[in-house]
Amino acid sequence: MTEANPNPQTEIIARRIEQDGPISIADYMLACLAHPQYGYYTSGLPVGGRGSADRTGGDFITAPEVSQMFGELIGVWCMEVWVALGKPDPFTLAEFGPGRGTLMKDLLRAARAMPDFLSAARVVLVEISPTLAEQQALTLSDHGGMITWAGSIDGLPERPTIAVGNEFLDALPFHQWVKTVDGWMERGIGLRDGKLAYVLLPNVLKGEAPAGKAGDIFETAPARTGFVETLAGLVLRNNGAALMVDYGHLKTGIGDTFQALRDHTFADPLQDPGKADLTSHVDFQALLDSVQMLGCLAPEPVTQGEFLLNLGLLERAGALGAGREKFIQETLRHAVERLAAPTAMGDLFKVAAFGAPATLGNRWPGFV
Ligand code: SAH
Repeated sequence: MTEANPNPQTEIIARRIEQDGPISIADYMLACLAHPQYGYYTSGLPVGGRGSADRTGGDFITAPEVSQMFGELIGVWCMEVWVALGKPDPFTLAEFGPGRGTLMKDLLRAARAMPDFLSAARVVLVEISPTLAEQQALTLSDHGGMITWAGSIDGLPERPTIAVGNEFLDALPFHQWVKTVDGWMERGIGLRDGKLAYVLLPNVLKGEAPAGKAGDIFETAPARTGFVETLAGLVLRNNGAALMVDYGHLKTGIGDTFQALRDHTFADPLQDPGKADLTSHVDFQALLDSVQMLGCLAPEPVTQGEFLLNLGLLERAGALGAGREKFIQETLRHAVERLAAPTAMGDLFKVAAFGAPATLGNRWPGFV
């Protein structure tokens, strides 16, 4: 096996399975993404950047890397919410999983239009990857003094908080369950003929699940629920609101959404662990149900296309392109399509918000 596959992660995971038995998909994901030496997030630069000439590099391109308009409109959202919250000063402006730091850079540039927002903001970037944190410091070097980093949500201080995250939730571990005659059994990863392969674990799903038929797959993500509940607690105690953008579904459903992305193409999640980005689709209904149970307000989630158009994407593109060369106008048109068209990112990506009821009064910019 060592000769056939020189990837040290395959060996590490195979040895662990030999010793301790098959592992859950959540444990496999953690092993692949967060191993201190060979982990996907800890050892490389996964997100392709606007800086590179062909906009590639990395393994995938995210909305802030498609166009500056994305981060600018998230900035408009944060400023409107800050005003609705009663202009708390100081407040934490938190971003979860900031990637290359591009969204925050565009957000802070847009916020120059509201100097008291900027002077009240204490930016905290929550990032697990040392490589990406370094890249964020480079991208945001103009804002040096106002930014600090935290390794997890537990590092955020108790004060009013406006939090954003793009493609953060999908990176948190999740579990899969297969419908059998004995109920929903956990799907795990074991060894077959010396190779990583899917197996059934002896755990049966407890709690609510759809009916399903034999062979169906259902996904749960306690790490995501735990994260949004912690964030909900922070904004309920201190005032604040959160905005999460990700690919996923508005209603809980059945289906296998485990995916690996490598070099801008889908790959087999069990091939070459640590070399591809592993994610699954976010179940927004499950997350919003749990924060509403805690007392948060939340508007109906919308698609990314609706959200950006509601916030003025077309007007922003028009303003940026006015009087400019044809190729710039073409680039902007292309970016609008990529971000908002149903055939591109517009429908697959969803936007959800939640916050403390007291001051926001359920006014949610960008949501109908
Ligand atoms: N938001 C960026 C990057 C998305 S990729 C963009 O839109 O371009 C996912 C990001 O989440 C990366 O920065 C990754 O390192 C970070 N991340 C993944 N798991 C994390 C965790 N448990 N805690 C903090 N950051 C995490």
